[in-house]
Amino acid sequence: MELKFWGTCGSLPAPINAQSVNRKIIAALQAAQGQTLDTREAMDKFIANLPFWVRGTYGGNTPCVEIVGGDDFVIIDAGTGLRDLGTHLMAQGTDRLPGRFHILMSHLHWDHIQGFPFFPPAYIPGNKIIIYGCHDEIEIAFRHQQGSPVFPVAFDHLGADIQFVVFESNKPHEIAGFNVTTMQQDHPNVSYGYRIEKDGKVAVYSSDSEHRDDMHRPNYRFLDFYRDADVLVFDAQYTLADAVHHKEDWGHSSNIIAVELAVQSGVKHLCLFHLEHTHSDETLHQMFEDTKGYAEFFSGDSTMKISLAYDGLEVPL
Ligand SMILES: [Zn+2]
Ligand SMILES: [Zn+2]
Repeated sequence: MELKFWGTCGSLPAPINAQSVNRKIIAALQAAQGQTLDTREAMDKFIANLPFWVRGTYGGNTPCVEIVGGDDFVIIDAGTGLRDLGTHLMAQGTDRLPGRFHILMSHLHWDHIQGFPFFPPAYIPGNKIIIYGCHDEIEIAFRHQQGSPVFPVAFDHLGADIQFVVFESNKPHEIAGFNVTTMQQDHPNVSYGYRIEKDGKVAVYSSDSEHRDDMHRPNYRFLDFYRDADVLVFDAQYTLADAVHHKEDWGHSSNIIAVELAVQSGVKHLCLFHLEHTHSDETLHQMFEDTKGYAEFFSGDSTMKISLAYDGLEVPL
């Protein structure tokens, strides 16, 4: 099994601008002072050693994660990252198309559905797309975002065979060869986490989820949901101060809460996700460093790996 992150930004797409690129170039030139970079090899080595915020970007697409490891396509959430996934497949010319796409929805907020009208496979007859979720309004939400006057192409004009499946939470389901269990989460209009298992490997996707004081109880229900996951994708939109003070009830968590719950659940690899759209790459880098520092302090000898998810990150399990 492998996770491919196509969209990692929370709430709305946030592409970087010219000023951000300029800051990266300045930082790279400062780091290059006194170095001899007269061959391509030397340049590649120099770039590889730059901090990620300088040589790359965490990316601006809203949530979309591909679960690789079966014949069919399995995708969680249809944020704007779904467009990149679709255009990549079309450009690649894979023999997996026409194919079957299983899209698991955490919830129906804009940032999780807005990539679908720009997903090229949805326009091509022969593709089958099954959209799953625990919200009764799932089909209404997808149809409304392509309704007049807010979108030019009506949902019924899509060429693929599209089906909606509303399933019950907290019960195991088999989808495209994966065992899938859902968990209701604390979020405006409610969201659902997904625990996905295959061949002894476990990936948990738990975005758009607020955790309150009861997370300190030993029998907190999420501890079992995250238990021993090979990878946990976790909503870390806020700092702890934001999460418990002026953004309480906004439905998100922090990097600190992520570390505490992941360590207590025996998670092997924590991926911080649903990143704050107002944060620059430099600010996110600092948040990542703070998170690793806190994990060392909180967990002592824990060997848990931590990543800050970015558009394009691939995580093999
Ligand atoms: Zn969201
Ligand atoms: Zn949401």
